[in-house]
Amino acid sequence: MNITHLSCSWCNEQYEPGKLYNLCSMCGKPLLVHYDLGRAATTLTRAALATRRANLWRYREVLPVEREENIITLGEGWTPLLHARRLGEQLGMRHLYIKDESLNPTASFKARGMAVAVSMAKELGAHKLAVPSAGNAAGALAAYAAKAGLEAYIFMPRDVPHANLSECQQCGARVTLVDGLITDCGRLVAERKEAEGWFDMSTLKEPYRLEGKKTMGYELAEQLDWELPDVVLYPTGGGTGLIGMWKAFDELERLGWISAKRPRMVTVQAEGCAPIVQAFAAGAKVGAEVADPHTVAAGLRVPKAIGDFLMLDILRRSGGTAVSVSDAALLAAVQEIGAAEGIFAAPEGAACLPALKQLIARGDVSREDCVVLFNTGSGLKYLNLWRD
Ligand SMILES: *Cc1c(COP(=O)(O)O)cnc(C)c1O
Ligand SMILES: [Zn+2]
Repeated sequence: MNITHLSCSWCNEQYEPGKLYNLCSMCGKPLLVHYDLGRAATTLTRAALATRRANLWRYREVLPVEREENIITLGEGWTPLLHARRLGEQLGMRHLYIKDESLNPTASFKARGMAVAVSMAKELGAHKLAVPSAGNAAGALAAYAAKAGLEAYIFMPRDVPHANLSECQQCGARVTLVDGLITDCGRLVAERKEAEGWFDMSTLKEPYRLEGKKTMGYELAEQLDWELPDVVLYPTGGGTGLIGMWKAFDELERLGWISAKRPRMVTVQAEGCAPIVQAFAAGAKVGAEVADPHTVAAGLRVPKAIGDFLMLDILRRSGGTAVSVSDAALLAAVQEIGAAEGIFAAPEGAACLPALKQLIARGDVSREDCVVLFNTGSGLKYLNLWRD
């Protein structure tokens, strides 16, 4: 619609719109989409938004799909931003919020990215879509590919949460279980995609999942009446949401809808797999691959992220930080959030609570701050964790 071009996030090589892309052909890093925001602003006004549907396509002018009929939607986005009053009281905070992404189709925020990426794959002529996944990306791809009438080829670790396997199978995807990690699954897709004619839908290895995820940033601004919070805590694996929200904040400022004020962005990871936390603490520009990653929070078990340099840059520029929490702490937090707020959180999302407690104890977050925790999925997809 309003895309002017794409550019490489590392070497700035430019690419023309209207084509399927994976990584930069010059340097192998992720591509970013750019819009003519002046043109977008002629129809995308804050007043116009009030009349639009409660899903992420309300921000149509800053999304990449060209033709209306190519939009594949299951009603993703516009999730509630809930005031966590009781949890806030326990922490002595008045302005604590939970962005509850568990209400998305397929019960996780992966639906946002896949809705946009599958729509673009359809528009640009791909038929066979492949993805390595720690779980929820697979379920989302299976669902949106089914809705689009496209084929989904899914590679997941054998110990993926059972719900993710079932949802893929019941949505008609071809599933391969791999003895290994998401990085091993990614290697398999990369090796076979050419011969099989697959389009690689891996996190940040195609540019449009990021565009879907960035809508969390638009919603945050709109739901807080165009003033961003002081702190955002984000459970981080591949980091698309973090990178996407930051991109959204820049676009929102250029649209003239928000000021230059940015939240301190905080990456939350599990102690058993915390490459961004380690790189942040070491002052490194990129992360090292974690040798033996382990955590029950499957979405956080990403030993090396291709967009790590982008995340680290955002954490530093925003004045934020990176925190790791133990599996025991994040599992206890599922119960705390459930009992206080009535949200059955995914373990990844729940990890934000012990992270917040650490930040308060260290003095990095004040009790007066406006803080948003991202609950990225539903606990219902992890019932295996509570079965005795
Ligand atoms: C994938 C996933 C994450 C991590 O998201 P990224 O954008 O890859 O950092 C967090 N929580 C859940 C529930 C997930 O499925
Ligand atoms: Zn490049």
